Amino acid sequence: MSRTVPWHAPLEGIYHDNSDCWAGRGLAGKQRIDGSGGKRLCAECAKLDRAEASLHHVQWRDVRRAIGE
Ligand SMILES: [Zn+2]
Repeated sequence: MSRTVPWHAPLEGIYHDNSDCWAGRGLAGKQRIDGSGGKRLCAECAKLDRAEASLHHVQWRDVRRAIGE
């Protein structure tokens, strides 16, 4: 999973920012516009972003423990 540059489709009221989002990936090239478009974040992307952030948090904590901080 990876958070990336936001993109959206003109006909959608939401934007995506996670490359693992099934809805965002389904947008064809022509419908895909870079940027958030001032829209709200897709619920699936938000979920993926949260999962990713907590994963990074755990890994970072483990790294700090390993180096004795
Ligand atoms: Zn999405």
